[in-house]
Amino acid sequence: MNLKDVFQTKTVFSLEVFPPKSELATQKLLNSLTGIQSIKPDFISITLGAAQMDIQKTVNLATAIQEQLSIPAMAHLTGLYLSKQQAADTLSILKESQINNILALRGDQVSNCPPVGDFKYAAELVNFIKCHGDFDIAGACYPQKHPESSDFVADTLHLKEKVNQGASHLITQMIFDNEAFWQFKERLQLANINVPVEVGIMPCTNHQQIQRITALSGIQMPKKFTNIMARYADNKEAMRDAGIAYAIDQIVDLVASGVDGIHLYTMNNPENAQRIWEATHTLFEAQNKQLAYPL
Ligand code: FAD
Repeated sequence: MNLKDVFQTKTVFSLEVFPPKSELATQKLLNSLTGIQSIKPDFISITLGAAQMDIQKTVNLATAIQEQLSIPAMAHLTGLYLSKQQAADTLSILKESQINNILALRGDQVSNCPPVGDFKYAAELVNFIKCHGDFDIAGACYPQKHPESSDFVADTLHLKEKVNQGASHLITQMIFDNEAFWQFKERLQLANINVPVEVGIMPCTNHQQIQRITALSGIQMPKKFTNIMARYADNKEAMRDAGIAYAIDQIVDLVASGVDGIHLYTMNNPENAQRIWEATHTLFEAQNKQLAYPL
């Protein structure tokens, strides 16, 4: 079944991992993903490092996830450092490896490294992929707007273009404030953007990591969240428990309110994903029953 059809039948639950640097670390990640197979995520997405250097690592991990774990993989692909020829070659490799799901992204500019210029925005890459095979294409979106966008209107119109070009579902940047997501959904409705949207949730278990991410992305944090971060910054175990509890709290609210799906940024810690799934899977099941047998 195509991923876009899966959204018609259930509340999707997916994970995101990044390709580890070494073979040993990759095997360790695959082993821990094997250890949490009771989750049965609808797909696992695999990130791509900046400047496109590691595409083979992304493809290899995606292939291993599909072949060894029998879980559909989604390869991230960024356009800024890709020529049209390289994009066509990469799509051939993905096709050969039977990876049909792609998250098409623009990517970020690396300092002192000028972009190729063939794909200026993600929508252009979406269009290119659409014309080069039967891929299921997802796009990124930003409930608190992309940091480079001047305003919400421009950001929403550019997102609509990405959907018009063929992105059949969207995944949000990580959010820590569900209210920002509901406001975003209202803007999507006004703009007549009707594809499923998965909400990106990151269980925050490391204070420095979250500080770095928020400085780069410009995500605004609710006070409740920053208080927790400040309180447990020096206590690893308490920080992990609080971060997981906070993510569960967000997911309970989102799933109960009928969200299309949850995309968990695992930061290569599948054990945290397991804890979150154990605490919330009955909610997904209840929602799926309601989708299958609406009143
Ligand atoms: P776009 O959709 O192209 O948008 C980028 C900016 O350009 C926005 O401000 C948009 O409003 C604006 N824009 C779009 N079209 C136009 C236009 N026609 N005219 C003027 N302005 C326009 N990065 C990686 O390097 N590797 C990854 O694996 C990765 N995974 C990600 C996964 C998710 C779920 C998300 C949310 C982000 C991910 N990123 C990743 C980060 C992403 O590459 C950056 O956020 C990047 O800055 C924007 O990518 P985009 O695809 O959203 O770009």
